[in-house]
Amino acid sequence: MAMPISTSSSMQFNSVSPQASETLGAKIGQKLRGGEVIELVSDLGGGKTTFTRGLVQGTGSNNLVSSPTFTICNRYRAKQLTIYHFDFYRLSDAGLMEHELAEAFEDPNGVVVIEWSDVVAHVLLTKRLTIDITAKDEDSRQFKLTYPKSLEYLVEGL
Ligand code: ADP
Ligand code: MG
Repeated sequence: MAMPISTSSSMQFNSVSPQASETLGAKIGQKLRGGEVIELVSDLGGGKTTFTRGLVQGTGSNNLVSSPTFTICNRYRAKQLTIYHFDFYRLSDAGLMEHELAEAFEDPNGVVVIEWSDVVAHVLLTKRLTIDITAKDEDSRQFKLTYPKSLEYLVEGL
């Protein structure tokens, strides 16, 4: 049997302000179609929630984005889409939220955004956009986007 070849590409961006990170998020948000999974990876204060704020704005939603650290999942409504914003910070076991996550994956009009995904790594699809954010200094962040060919449309023209 032939081995599947995993072909993922990556792209990097430098952001010089929270606004710039939101703008990057908004540009990607405009391209969302439903069914996407976006994994956000960084240290605390890296800018995952800030990026998500822009992403949600980009979908046309005017819902306010806040950190789901305590609620674990926030939902935002856009015209066609529901954005499920998960944050598993400090959870050693996703518990019932794993079921919520599975339901979000099944929503064809859903976009799943996950902060601190380690605890649910075993249920994440390989077809996802992974964004690694590295803080360079107080206001500067490096974004590295890694994506399979099937999600290339999310980064087109960035
Ligand atoms: P996380 O969700 O990764 O913990 P947040 O988005 O909640 O991070 O917080 C990021 C913090 O860093 C905010 O206080 C934001 O104002 C600040 N910040 C400074 N520069 C940037 C930047 N270039 N991009 C994103 N956030 C930035
Ligand atoms: Mg956060």
